[in-house]
Amino acid sequence: MHLSELTAKQKYSFNKLQKRLRRHVGKAIEDFNMVEEGDRIMVCLSGGKDSYTLLDILLYLQRIAPVKFDLIAVNLDQKQPGFPAHVLPEYLSQLGVNFQIVTEDTYSIVKQKIPEGKTTCSLCSRLRRGILYRTATELSATKIALGHHRDDMLETLLLNMFYGGKLKSMPPKLVSDDGKQMVIRPLAYCAEKDISQYAEKMDFPIIPCNLCGSQENLQRKVIKQMLQQWDSQYPGRIENMARALQSVVPSHLADKTLFDFAQLQTQDGPFAEGDIAFDQPEPTLPDAADSHATATVQVVNLS
Ligand code: SF4
Repeated sequence: MHLSELTAKQKYSFNKLQKRLRRHVGKAIEDFNMVEEGDRIMVCLSGGKDSYTLLDILLYLQRIAPVKFDLIAVNLDQKQPGFPAHVLPEYLSQLGVNFQIVTEDTYSIVKQKIPEGKTTCSLCSRLRRGILYRTATELSATKIALGHHRDDMLETLLLNMFYGGKLKSMPPKLVSDDGKQMVIRPLAYCAEKDISQYAEKMDFPIIPCNLCGSQENLQRKVIKQMLQQWDSQYPGRIENMARALQSVVPSHLADKTLFDFAQLQTQDGPFAEGDIAFDQPEPTLPDAADSHATATVQVVNLS
């Protein structure tokens, strides 16, 4: 349902949703010092719900923030069959946003290099990344803003653990692999379900992401479903996982490059990094709805 058709009650909940998204973006920007005075931010716009939401909120913050910064929206037309090339220019012109459409036929390259039936996403993303970095340099952009959100970060964390053997996610801010660009993810604190609802209400002209005919990464799909199931079954669990990304305790993991276990010494008196081996470990308190985990903690307490 479009914004203009909302009832007063629906309008109220839309305003709450909008405020929440704007607040989360503002907080992420502040926490990670993502935007500085005089920045020229290149906003990567794919035509999906996430990038439309990102641009919409950055435009709002640009109007109200004390810090002055420029925005330039960039879309990469990869020449996928059926790509509606008119949609983004029309939308952006209507908004009065400075924009650039970059046209590069990566679709043909990918089709030529990857055998039929194999997933093409990894080569496609690599090519896209290179083109976007180059474009940022050409546009003298000081930051590149991407539309990844909290749930993308959690999916990546689990994917890296399950299949890559690494405790690693998508950071809210990073330097590009060529060392030249600063990449920011202002939606890092935003929940995907909020973004989906917002995009629907705002009636963004969404361009489908499967025009190339490639299947979505199956492992990511499975993890996404698992997270969505947890979210409905165990309220609060996803929020806790997201908080955990910001509360890492190297002395209670096992990476000897992050914590010097070899030189660990006992001392007289309390030790800040000490363990409470026989107590209930606070950070792993179960969700209220997680009856299995509750039972486990009860057993620990009794022993
Ligand atoms: S879905 Fe298609 S366009 Fe998107 S990354 Fe994969 S190959 Fe590229």
